[in-house]
Parts: sequence; C-alpha cells; structure tokens
Amino acid sequence: MNLAIYACDPACSRGRRHAEPAAPTRTEFQRDRDRIVHSSAFRRLVYKTQVFLNHEGDLFRTRLTHSLEVAQLGRSIARSLGLNEDLVEAIALAHDLGHTPFGHAGQDALNECMADHGGFEHNLQSLRVVDQLEQRYPQFDGLNLTFETREGILKHCSRSNAQRLEATEPGGVGKRFLMRSQPSLEAQLCNLADEIAYNAHDIDDGVRSGLISLEQLEQVPLFDDFRRQTLEEHPHLQGSMQGRRLLYEAIRRMLSAQVYDVIAATRRAIDHAALQSADAARLQEPLLQFGDEMRASSTVLKRFLLQNLYRHPQVMETTGQAKSVVRDLFKVYRARPQEMQAVFSARFDQAASMAEGADRSVRVVADYIAGMTDRFAAKEHERLTGQRLLT
Ligand code: MG
Repeated sequence: MNLAIYACDPACSRGRRHAEPAAPTRTEFQRDRDRIVHSSAFRRLVYKTQVFLNHEGDLFRTRLTHSLEVAQLGRSIARSLGLNEDLVEAIALAHDLGHTPFGHAGQDALNECMADHGGFEHNLQSLRVVDQLEQRYPQFDGLNLTFETREGILKHCSRSNAQRLEATEPGGVGKRFLMRSQPSLEAQLCNLADEIAYNAHDIDDGVRSGLISLEQLEQVPLFDDFRRQTLEEHPHLQGSMQGRRLLYEAIRRMLSAQVYDVIAATRRAIDHAALQSADAARLQEPLLQFGDEMRASSTVLKRFLLQNLYRHPQVMETTGQAKSVVRDLFKVYRARPQEMQAVFSARFDQAASMAEGADRSVRVVADYIAGMTDRFAAKEHERLTGQRLLT
C-alpha cells in the first residue's frame, strides 16, 4: 500500500483501549477489519433491513450487502488517493453495526422509547457494539478496536452524548464533537462512500420493487443523463425486455462519475490545504468532498428518493408496523426482563441495582432490541403479544 503523507499510518495509531501485543503479519487496521468480520453483529447485518424489509425479496440490499458496497467504493477511492484502504474497509464494514431491525423505522421507534433515558442513536450504538456488546475475548468486552476505527464508526454524536463519552474516555472519540474538528480522511471517505452507495442501490431496489419507474427518474438529471447516454450508444436497450441492462449501465456510469468526481475534488482540496500529516486533516474543514456540481446533483437525487421511495405509501405502511413491533417489545421486556435471553436479563438485574439504575437497565433493553434481526424481532413479537406483524 502506498500511503500518502496525510493517510492514517497503522504504525502511528493512537492505539487500543486495552494494550495488546502487535500481530506478527497484520497491521493494526487489518486486525480491526478481521475482528469486525468475525463478530456476531456483522453476521446479523444480513437479516437487517436497509430500505426494504428483509423478507420482501431476496435481491434487495440488506445492511450487509450495503456495507460491502460501501467498503468497495471506499477502498477504490482510498487507493486512488493514497489513503489507508484497510482502515476504510474496517470503518465501512462496521458503520451500520448499531442499526436496529427494520431500518430507520426501528431506530425512530427505539429513540422514542428511550426519550427519557438518553435516547437512541444508531451511530453511538455501533460504537457500543464494538466497545462493549460483543463478548468474544477473555480479557475485555467488545472488540478492542483502534482509536482510528472507532473514530470513524462514530459518524455523528449529539453534544450530550459526546460529553458522556468524554467523561469516561478523556480525549477519546467524543472529543471532536466538542471541539468541532473532523475525523481522519479515511473516516470522511466512508461517509461519502455510504451516500454514493445508497443513492445508487436505492434506485436499483426502488425500480426492482416497482415503487419507482424509469420514467419518474427522468426528474433526476444525475441518473437520467447517463440513461440517455447509454441508450444513444446502445439503442437496442430500448424496450422493456432490456430494461434491467439499461438500468444497470446507467447506475454503473453514475457511480463511476461520482467516484472520479470525489477523487478529483478531494485532490484539489488536499493540495490547497497542503497537508503534511493525517492529524493536519482533522483540523481542516472536511476535505473529502464532491465538486460543487456533483454535490448539487447528488442532493437532487437524495430528495427524489426521499419523496418517492422512502416516503412511498407502501414503505410507510410497513414502517408503521415495524414501529409497533419495537414499541411493544420494549414495553414487554421492560416489565418482564426475564423474557430476554439470560445474558441480557442478568445484565438488566445487575444494572437496576446500580446508581442511575433505571437508565442503565432500560439501556440493556435497548441493546437487546437493537441487536435483533428483523425476523427474530417479528418472531419475538408474536411470541410475546400473540400478534403477527410483518410476516
Ligand atoms: Mg450506511
């Protein structure tokens, strides 16, 4: 790997919370990536909703395939910019580990349930997963990842949560939200790769589901220009039998254009800032960026997807049911913690006996629900309420 001077160098990592000897053949960021791939939270991503509920079709993206696409785009851009690919891959594969079942509907419902107990943020939850909830090592909770990977996982954080983090880990991953500084360029890259990935795959899944049509997409110049360009070069793709090839080729061109745009715009920004180190990037405005025109086009596409896909009546209908499942589960477990798996009910009892016991014990319920796959949550809901939703 040819690392640029502004890339994160694993040899200069700020380290792990629990010191460990170096691995003989792998860098620290490779180890982080490997730990994430072997975690149980990572395996659960395959049964968690991205936009379409997991059981609605076998070809829709799940959180797992989404994360793999983010990692692919991230690595590709990282290599071209001389950034650390292993770190980018580790952050990308972990960035959605804290997502609840049923996508944003699940997270909104859980956040409402937790309103009086510090709320629920999926980014912070991803950090909880890798810091505390995974239990696979004899000496510590969590995966004991490096500072740089954890910094990238915590994409957003409210001020109050940042203050809480800072109190338990002074100068740690919460600090930048209080100082208003940036994360590493690798972390910034993962945010942008996330956006590029979901914009593209949600067009694909949206058309596949029949909820949006190619005609509707004419309102989105970023996509439609490439659709026209493709048709001009390949007129035989006109007609319904070839619709998918046309769709794929237009998305492929759109993805490439965005990747090349990010690389060019970011190179300009990095040159302009004359960065001399990875830390110098943390003190600048975000440098990983689209050019102005692409930024505007991407915003139009995002708005289109919000109005026509994420808020589509058919999506909203399942959203309502998903929220009910999460709310009902929360209510039942809170009243009858013994209904949770033994590890969690034991943790609940232990938390309840500590100072601020109410906040701590409901957090255990939130952790338990957040960790569920869609189908496990629906099954538990049926077991506990006798009601069949979302199946
Ligand atoms: Mg994501």
